Amino acid sequence: KSPVNRELTLSVQLVPFGEGKKLLVARDITDLERVDAMRRDFIANVSHELRTPLTVVGGFVETLAETDDLPPAESRRYFDLMLDHTRRMQRLLDDLLILSRLESADHSLSDEPVNVPEMVQALKSEAESLSRGRHRVSVQATSGTWLKGSQQEVRSAFGNLVSNAVRYTPEGGAITLGWHERDGEAVFSVKDTGEGIAAEHIPRLTERFYRVDRSRSRETGGTGLGLAIVKHVLTRHHARLDIQSTPGRGSAFSAIFPAQRVLAAPENAQVIPF
Ligand code: ADP
Repeated sequence: KSPVNRELTLSVQLVPFGEGKKLLVARDITDLERVDAMRRDFIANVSHELRTPLTVVGGFVETLAETDDLPPAESRRYFDLMLDHTRRMQRLLDDLLILSRLESADHSLSDEPVNVPEMVQALKSEAESLSRGRHRVSVQATSGTWLKGSQQEVRSAFGNLVSNAVRYTPEGGAITLGWHERDGEAVFSVKDTGEGIAAEHIPRLTERFYRVDRSRSRETGGTGLGLAIVKHVLTRHHARLDIQSTPGRGSAFSAIFPAQRVLAAPENAQVIPF
């Protein structure tokens, strides 16, 4: 059943088969092996991600415990760094929990009305607060439509796209949030004038822990799981992620929801002036 030119892993066994004969039984375990390798990679990645901040925190605790006369400014710096690394571990564990909940089979998708126009306004405020005045944040929305799905999941996916735009756009750049309808589909977009992404990286961005620049992602507080979460949430909503980017110019991430997920705004809904 395997496609031609695909490398296979077979488990081979000789079993007795009648008088003086043996039967060669070959089982295709390619997929099992692949899943197992993915699991091993994942555990190695998580361990690595946790080990670095833990080592740093452990080192500082040791120094503080052993040194009585550390100047206050120095110990303050140690405490700040420990707090930084502790928060990093917290963010990683939060994202891991979100991912594992999304992946668990018994977790069915809720079908609640999601007020996206209101969410877009909240996301604009969130972007402004993350940016701390370093970027111009605006909204270009023409749709007042809502979605059918999980409010919490959609909020978390859109929030990840927004925080990425802030983190990967240098000071002075612009971030634009959009909510539009196109051929019956509804599109939430985040455009930035940031560093952009080279084409060869784009297909792999939603893999867990895939980063174009590891140290840049860490520096800005990334866990490497944001787009994996986005991908999961969108897949559960039968939506897709489109990524357009030009290195040095900026990126546009769009979450495209099919017509069956689009919900007309309730008649009594407050119209948000964009
Ligand atoms: P991270 O926590 O590292 O940001 P993500 O899964 O959210 O993890 O993103 C994966 C990688 O995709 C990032 O490390 C970064 O290299 C790239 N990336 C994501 N969003 C953007 C963006 N708006 N501009 C440039 N690069 C981005």
